[in-house]
Amino acid sequence: MYDSIVIGAGIAGSVVARQLAEKGSRRVLVLEKRAHIGGNCYDRLDEYGILVHEYGPHIFHTNMEDVFAWLSRFTEWNLYENGHQVVANVNGKLIPVPFNLNTLHMVYEKEKAGLLEQKLVQAYGAGSRVAVMELLENEDPQIQAVAQYVYENVFLKYTMKQWGQTPEEISPQVTARVPVLVSYDNRYFQDKYQGVPVQGFTEMFARMLEHENITVRTGTDAKKLLDFVLAADGSGGIYLEGKKFGGDVIYTGELDGLFDFVHGRLPYRSLRFDFEHFEKNDFQNEHSVVNYTVSEDFTRITEFKYLTRQKDTNGTTIIREYPFAYTGAPGEIPYYAILNPENRKLYEKYTKMAEQLPNLHLLGRLAEYQYYNIDAMTKKALELAGKLLAG
Ligand code: FAD
Ligand code: UDP
Repeated sequence: MYDSIVIGAGIAGSVVARQLAEKGSRRVLVLEKRAHIGGNCYDRLDEYGILVHEYGPHIFHTNMEDVFAWLSRFTEWNLYENGHQVVANVNGKLIPVPFNLNTLHMVYEKEKAGLLEQKLVQAYGAGSRVAVMELLENEDPQIQAVAQYVYENVFLKYTMKQWGQTPEEISPQVTARVPVLVSYDNRYFQDKYQGVPVQGFTEMFARMLEHENITVRTGTDAKKLLDFVLAADGSGGIYLEGKKFGGDVIYTGELDGLFDFVHGRLPYRSLRFDFEHFEKNDFQNEHSVVNYTVSEDFTRITEFKYLTRQKDTNGTTIIREYPFAYTGAPGEIPYYAILNPENRKLYEKYTKMAEQLPNLHLLGRLAEYQYYNIDAMTKKALELAGKLLAG
């Protein structure tokens, strides 16, 4: 019946399914345990007719021409002319994030800011991007004072909320996602293309999965349909409703869950999302995202209509994000892998198990226990499909 099975209809699964179906003429079965496609990129109209992102705000951004071109087959884009811009609420004052030279001139008086700007340019070069943890190591006491300001007012509390750990304790690759910019660039991302699909992410996924060779079954946990049997005696393999399945199986869910947590649970951070609707036009002065970096229990507030650029709205809907440690309790969703050597070691115990199933391929934020943006995920999925089709 099927040549390949894809588990998960997020960006990883949907891209790979489309490529296998189209380029390889394979009959592909996509299994998705949620009631909808799109994974964490899923969006929908709320009861007030406002397009909301169910699992937190998503902005597509990339420098990869091939990824942009490929996804553009399935959607038109609302590209942001001035990029995605974020401000941090620091004791009531709104300052641009990432911290950049505009921010510098807002928090220091004119002469001091001018001097600090010169020093930063001299130390790192105009236009450079410096991770806050690197800036903290600069030996010049005045640069160090800037680093300390950024650390305390932008990173410390936000990171404590998001990860339950200090910036020193988490992987430096995470805080380096939001570097200090030695330029007057207020954009959150520096990518060439930034924006959202005109008809929403879900519609983009629907078009991607709309293909004669693709069958999608939502509301279907793959663990209920498939058995992953590890055995040295030749009986090992992946079984679909009792019969050994020899085709490629691409898995994009949690790897520990696939093997019933036999080595213990992989740690994740999760989020609780609180939506609120207001019968007024504007909630936060036309800012799509305000980060709360020194106060509150939530990390940020997103006002959707400024993110999606939806025009025909009555009222406005916002979302607050409250991070917490994932426990695996029913209903919880693991959003963020916690990158550290100890967790990597545990993850590798599971990949050793996965290797015993040669037709099983791990792909995605969960299955690879990695931190991927949509564009990097798309690229990785296109590459995997290419590899599988090359045999
Ligand atoms: P997912 O989207 O998680 O999809 C995996 C799918 O597999 C899920 O739908 C799940 O239900 C399904 N699944 C799991 N197990 C099973 C099973 N046993 N059977 C059937 N189905 C199963 N990226 C950006 O580029 N820009 C952003 O602005 C951005 N914002 C983000 C904000 C938040 C709050 C979060 C958490 C992530 C954000 N990302 C952003 C990252 C983006 O969400 C990921 O890159 C993307 O979702 C990864 O896709 P995926 O397919 O690997 O995972
Ligand atoms: N961060 C922070 N303050 C901010 C923005 C980001 O401390 O105002 C830190 C925080 O640790 C966060 C990391 O930088 O987890 C990466 O931020 P990014 O916005 O890339 O996270 P995402 O939500 O995309 O995972």
